[in-house]
Amino acid sequence: MSIRVENLSHTYNPGTPFERCAVDNVTLEIKDGEFVAIIGETGSGKSTLIQHFNGLLKPTGGRVFVDEVDIWGKGVHLKTVRQKVGLVFQYPEHQLFEETVFKDIAFGPRNIGLPDDEVDRRVEQAMKMVGLDFEALRDRSPFELSGGEKRRVAMAGVIAMKPSVIVLDEPASGLDPHGRDQVLAEIQQLHQEFGFTVVLVSHSMEDVAKLARRVMVLHKAKLIADGSTRDVFGMEDVLSKAGLEAPQVTRLMQELARRNMKVRTDILTVEEAKREILRVLGGEGRVS
Ligand code: ADP
Ligand code: MG
Repeated sequence: MSIRVENLSHTYNPGTPFERCAVDNVTLEIKDGEFVAIIGETGSGKSTLIQHFNGLLKPTGGRVFVDEVDIWGKGVHLKTVRQKVGLVFQYPEHQLFEETVFKDIAFGPRNIGLPDDEVDRRVEQAMKMVGLDFEALRDRSPFELSGGEKRRVAMAGVIAMKPSVIVLDEPASGLDPHGRDQVLAEIQQLHQEFGFTVVLVSHSMEDVAKLARRVMVLHKAKLIADGSTRDVFGMEDVLSKAGLEAPQVTRLMQELARRNMKVRTDILTVEEAKREILRVLGGEGRVS
């Protein structure tokens, strides 16, 4: 399942004093099986951009293709597109409204008219996929759950529709560290174990470095970088223009390199940094 966006623009309230171009001529492609992150400052256009991926917003310019089909073309059912590309909103728990976890996750599958036994199967499977205990939680009220559990209920509601692509808008924001870790671990699992294509909008460069293989940077409605996570976090000028900073550990290595330690600067995790520093120290040890 691929998503391709061609010269996409979105202007809110066109022709009024409140006119605002939130996405400006963006072209990109997300291929089947990728894990892509979208980063950028607040107001850079991330949420607006991703709401085009499943046809929730209509472009004011350009086109959106899902599996090479123009989703705004004649005869295309947006319902089908939304089934293939699942979108988990920022603060999705605001959209939990049923009295039990089961009913909440079952809402989408029921809405498309699936028979009860298939609905049951999908809810159970979706809960398992996000690490929620089906028997223990199915009859609980979603409002009694922890922050991380509520997020995972919302994710299960999207997964129960059996999409190929899952788009998550700041899925860890506002959670405590434990909730963050849970949610991020499940997202990683959805990609690695269950093969979902994942598009992650995130504020945390640490999370992006750990999870995403590819990063796109938005700045003032424009896509200003698109490349491997290593490459993009090495682009200090691009990041500073976008008001962002590479992960702390990456910046530490860049600083060590500036101070003439011969370390690689494209380091993404503490584990990698440790290995790299030991490698360099080991090397020096042998020389002296
Ligand atoms: P991000 O998710 O990166 O914070 P958004 O896509 O939410 O960015 O917003 C991009 C720009 O569009 C901002 O200037 C924001 O104020 C504006 N905007 C977002 N949603 C709306 C809306 N529904 N109506 C008008 N302007 C909007
Ligand atoms: Mg947003």
